[in-house]
Amino acid sequence: MLVLEYKVKAKRLQYLAIEEAIKTTQFIRNKCLKYWMDAPKETKIDRFALNKYSTELRNEFKFVANLNSMAVQSSAERTWLAISRFYDNCKKKVVGKKGFPKFQHDNRSVEYKTSGWKINPTKRRITITDKKSIGELKLLGKWDIQTYPVKSIKRLRLVRRADGYYCQFCIDAESIDIQPKAGNEIGLDVGIESFCTDSNGHQEANPKFLRKAEKAIKHAQRKIYKKRKGSVGGRKARAIFARKHLRISRQRNEHAKIKARNLCKSNDLVAYENLQVRNLLKNHCLAKSIGDVSWYLFRKWIEYFAGKFGRLAVAVAPHYTSPKCSNCGAIVKKSLSTRTHACSCGCNLHRDENAAINILNLARQRQPAQRGEPLQAAGSARGGHPQSNAVGLVTSTLLGESLLEQVTR
Ligand SMILES: [Zn+2]
Repeated sequence: MLVLEYKVKAKRLQYLAIEEAIKTTQFIRNKCLKYWMDAPKETKIDRFALNKYSTELRNEFKFVANLNSMAVQSSAERTWLAISRFYDNCKKKVVGKKGFPKFQHDNRSVEYKTSGWKINPTKRRITITDKKSIGELKLLGKWDIQTYPVKSIKRLRLVRRADGYYCQFCIDAESIDIQPKAGNEIGLDVGIESFCTDSNGHQEANPKFLRKAEKAIKHAQRKIYKKRKGSVGGRKARAIFARKHLRISRQRNEHAKIKARNLCKSNDLVAYENLQVRNLLKNHCLAKSIGDVSWYLFRKWIEYFAGKFGRLAVAVAPHYTSPKCSNCGAIVKKSLSTRTHACSCGCNLHRDENAAINILNLARQRQPAQRGEPLQAAGSARGGHPQSNAVGLVTSTLLGESLLEQVTR
């Protein structure tokens, strides 16, 4: 799936109409969730039951009927996604929270499928054709949506962001561009002091905008605390805070994309640690959590480009990658503040470089069977989210919001 995104330009009444459609989507989701929660134990509520229930909602509420029928369905399906994820977690006996689906109160998007909209054949415009009276929207962006066959557009999403409304098209066009063998392999280690260190000893510094951003965000956040709750000033301060976040998440995404693309272009195998997002999200330190989100995005792009270029992207278990000597295999204990790895065998490296080499070696050991079928392997490294370069919504990630939620949404 490819996601093309445009900024929407429209009249005030049209924005209100989009808002109304987004609210309706939320209403359906919460109704479906309540329906599932209230159902007696012996009735089995599944995808189809929710779908059927959403049709009942259409008959009962006029404003639901006004939304395109497939958009109503889509909302019910998204509810089912949340429920089935909860079931899965219970079945797999995931430690800790199982993610019991929550009622939504800040839904930001409405999703259409293959009906309810029409693309202007010549201009970059789209008309939403259901009875929510959204009408024709102008699309601002560099892509040419008209060049894609209408049939390949599987979803259309209208999304609210801090700085306006956006229109996303999910296109079923896995653009594959197999590259000739590069003859290189690389391992990556994420550190705190640098963005990442590779097995060749190259250290990628944290981009400046992240350091600057951290200051700006903290400042904007303090401003919110100073204002009275619910006051106009408070609302303005929050809007400033949200826009700052948005800007950074875009920069961060671009940065991750470029770095990941270069890495996958010049290496046949890219190895990295399989860090658990679940654990990362528990981090409350601001600087660290900015790094976590960046790394998560970086990894998603690596996996995307590995798939696209026909490379191997391998995530290895992060065990003993740091203390183990990459030369002789001895365990050399070091504290977090020790920046070098010095082993009695004579091996002397930066600690992150040593770890990166270990990560690469682990990936080489683990993957012999999959050599020669890079595409499939890259796919499997993506775990449960095949074809998930749909980072459109991820780019609007706010700190503290669940990444998992956003990715599987
Ligand atoms: Zn050694």
